[in-house]
Amino acid sequence: MTCTEDSHATIVSYGKPLTSTGESAARMQLTTLADEIRSQLSPPPHVIAFSLKPRAAIPLGGRRPDAVTWFDDAGAWATSTAFAAGPVASVAEYINAHPVDKDFGRTWDRALPLNRYLYESPAIGLHPAKDGMTPTFPHVLTSPSGLPDQSFYDQWQSSPFADEYLASMALHVAEKIGYSTTGPNFIGISFSTFDKLSHDYSPFSHEAQDVLIRLDRTLGDLFAGLDRIVGPGAYTVALTADHGVAPPPERSIQQGFDAGRISVQQLIARAEESMTKTLGAGTHVSQFAHDYLYLEPGVYEGLQANPTAMRTLVADLKTVPGVLRVITRDELAANHFEGDAAGRQSALSFFEGRSGDIMILFKPYWIESLNTTTHGSGYQYDTHVPVIFMGAGIAKGEYLMRVSPTDVAPTLAFLAGVTLPAAVAAAMRRSASSSDGTLAIAPSLVQLTAAAAFANRSVCSIGQPLRYA
Ligand SMILES: [Zn+2]
Repeated sequence: MTCTEDSHATIVSYGKPLTSTGESAARMQLTTLADEIRSQLSPPPHVIAFSLKPRAAIPLGGRRPDAVTWFDDAGAWATSTAFAAGPVASVAEYINAHPVDKDFGRTWDRALPLNRYLYESPAIGLHPAKDGMTPTFPHVLTSPSGLPDQSFYDQWQSSPFADEYLASMALHVAEKIGYSTTGPNFIGISFSTFDKLSHDYSPFSHEAQDVLIRLDRTLGDLFAGLDRIVGPGAYTVALTADHGVAPPPERSIQQGFDAGRISVQQLIARAEESMTKTLGAGTHVSQFAHDYLYLEPGVYEGLQANPTAMRTLVADLKTVPGVLRVITRDELAANHFEGDAAGRQSALSFFEGRSGDIMILFKPYWIESLNTTTHGSGYQYDTHVPVIFMGAGIAKGEYLMRVSPTDVAPTLAFLAGVTLPAAVAAAMRRSASSSDGTLAIAPSLVQLTAAAAFANRSVCSIGQPLRYA
């Protein structure tokens, strides 16, 4: 389950019939920037949000967007009855005129000459290509069946064509619903391809570099479109990323680092052995997911009542190769991690009732994934991301202060003249806005999230502590 799945809502397809569960913002605990500008400004601004993933598009668009659209893995653009009773006309118009299936058989090759790319190709640590994708350029987007099927749609979502589509669709919808004559309005786009591509190909691959080269061009096209629709200098752009990505362990090992892949089976087996020894026979572990052991009902309470069993479990788990640290949910809830950065990071990502029972921190360069690589740790390669502002109200310059993607929403809110709840607004960075004290209210706000290398999880976690991927 993801943070936006909602069985009370029904998926709305812009193409073939879909069977996915509905999606909504029902689990979101906080207000969003999009919600606040809609509720505070008069007339209410337009809000549109696009991504390949519902869990990326929905937190950007908030609870009442004019349009929120994502790509269903079965091969159709979609929204949900939580946001629209049926297809939104301006979105449907674009999708009908630009069928993704037209990219079947299209070739993706390097945008620049080979010698402009860093590192080796294929990337060290590349896992066997899935869904027919070849290990090096050129990539022809096809499928074993010879028809546009799930294999093709998977390849398409890992290609720069998907990013180009999102930007182009956003411009079309913005223009159609009146961004040129009203404002301020809001556009949220999450470019998901770099994330998916890096899982499969490694952030060091030529493919990853090419996605960023082409994303840079796509952003240029997007800004040119906004110049045309809204006017040059009449909008503000914020660009950030919700996380980074680890190097493939095989690459780190070659470089002499202590690195590897954690075996989930081994973790679970070690936990079961430990608790069988101390608590008695039976199944104790429900699953391991996103750094947590989830225990069967009542098992954690059994450990709480038996401190020796808890200590033994922690000690036993630490013997699994790659495990650095084991933290119980009581420790995470108590949050007594003064002077302990990793402990504080862990406590920040703990959400009582949703997170698991035992958190397991891996050593640097150790990952748990069957893909080429993944993300989700607190290490620099996973948490260092860009935060870039551009346009109306922004003073040009490079600011060498510590900032976070959570500063983006308060900064845009400030420029739009709306207030966010104190907890959110406290993070605002005045230094990013113009120094003469006459702050422009941007007629249009554009919030982009590029899943670029080097980041933390924050776009989903602004409203959604549940899951990121
Ligand atoms: Zn991911």
